[in-house]
Amino acid sequence: MAKEMDGWHMQGATVAPRFGLPAMVKLFSIVLITLSALSLLFIGYIASRKADDIAAKKQIILLENVLRDRQSLLARDQLGLARWDRSVKYITLKFHASYVIEEFVSSLWYDFGHERSFLIGPDGRVLMSAWQDEVDLTARDLKPGDDLRAIAELALTRHHAHRTTIDGGFGQRPVPASQVHAIAAFGFAEVEGEVMLATAMAIVPDDGEVALPEGDPVILVSARPIDADLVADLNSQLEYEYLQFNRNGDGLLTVKSADGQALGSFDFTLFKPGADIWTIVVPAVVLLCGLMFAASFVLGRYIGRLSERLEESEWRNRELAHRDALSGLANRLCFDKALNEAADRLAHAPFAVIACDLDRFKAVNDLHGHGAGDEVIRVVAERLREAVGENGLVGRVGGDEFVILVHAFRDRARLSMLAQSTIASVSQPMTLSNGADVDVGISLGIATAPEDGASARAIMSNADRALYASKQGGRGRAFFAEDLPPGEAVHAA
Ligand code: GH3
Ligand code: MG
Repeated sequence: MAKEMDGWHMQGATVAPRFGLPAMVKLFSIVLITLSALSLLFIGYIASRKADDIAAKKQIILLENVLRDRQSLLARDQLGLARWDRSVKYITLKFHASYVIEEFVSSLWYDFGHERSFLIGPDGRVLMSAWQDEVDLTARDLKPGDDLRAIAELALTRHHAHRTTIDGGFGQRPVPASQVHAIAAFGFAEVEGEVMLATAMAIVPDDGEVALPEGDPVILVSARPIDADLVADLNSQLEYEYLQFNRNGDGLLTVKSADGQALGSFDFTLFKPGADIWTIVVPAVVLLCGLMFAASFVLGRYIGRLSERLEESEWRNRELAHRDALSGLANRLCFDKALNEAADRLAHAPFAVIACDLDRFKAVNDLHGHGAGDEVIRVVAERLREAVGENGLVGRVGGDEFVILVHAFRDRARLSMLAQSTIASVSQPMTLSNGADVDVGISLGIATAPEDGASARAIMSNADRALYASKQGGRGRAFFAEDLPPGEAVHAA
């Protein structure tokens, strides 16, 4: 009640509370914007990962294709010498060292740059091995499983798949240069400690002047070591960063022999286009968040203002419902509510009620007009407020009727003092705005709870009885209800 009373005593200076942007709207916007930003960043992350994966696969496939091109080139170079009656005649049918050294190997090296070349006869027997134009004709057998032998055997299989019968023996169905892989074997081989790119094909007749005998033909194997020169050569097409070949198999593209053994691997710095996605995603996220912030700010301000206006109007309505418009004091509705609440808490907080009525107020109206009467009511209200101060709640419950709900004390001595100071204050002469000097008095009736009643109605009725006694007793005085005899006798406070 004290809180309420303070509220009413402060009514003249009270202002409607101001409300900022509702916290809920702010919080909701921040959560929504953060979630949106995180979702976009997550999508960007997935997209960049996917782009990097696809790009990595493409770069590896490109390297594989370039290697295959190099092998095709080796095979096409071989074709001119391996598919030739003269080679069949001087290698397969009768081995002529001078032909092999001076024409065959010489052409492979000087015309085509085949660094290593081998002639492999049936059962993996090396008939000739050459390093550039240096020819070694020492025959030796390749062990089963040797990389060169494996490639030669693959070339034999291809040859037999294309073998045809010609006059005097066998030949091979011709294939265009672009289909050379049909008759040639491509692969990688470790030769004398070096990993090489190798191709192999059978030596077969072309014009049919000679024919191959029954059995396996001689196989020509050409090889190029995968060294810095070859890597640079490959990279002239690829332009990869730090392309290199290592003997460990941990790189991006592992090179395997015909029997599946890892011989080494190519490695390079992958180009990652995913990083470029961030240059699009980040500004998009910033822009979107900025727009959402701006939109939520505008919306938030709109909602904030709306709720501010609603709160203000609700506050004003509450004020009007509880406040007496003329005096600014608590009206009857408000006072009755306060009195009922006080009655409900009576067991814990006893209180007193002072009923007040101005003396001969009608005369002010009659002499100075209704407006002057209103002014007197406002001045009296202010004096009552000052006289009561923090000790209770003052209400205006009728034309010139006021009530004081005293909660600070209820002993007779202090109630008497309050009553006397109230009478003295209100009875002070007042000069109205029209210059008229006016004197009004006030009569009081005091009832204490629970002595003079336990219900709001009983207490009020006893205060009114005491007020009536004051009027009867001559006005300008206060009477206690407890002094009222069952009959008419009352005692001054
Ligand atoms: P008493 O001493 O017996 O109390 O007589 P009184 O002249 O004060 O008259 P009473 O209390 O019986 O009546 C109150 C008068 O106050 C009646 C009415 O003319 C006047 N009045 C009631 N409400 C208002 C108001 O809002 N403004 C003004 N100016 N006068 C009012
Ligand atoms: Mg009166």
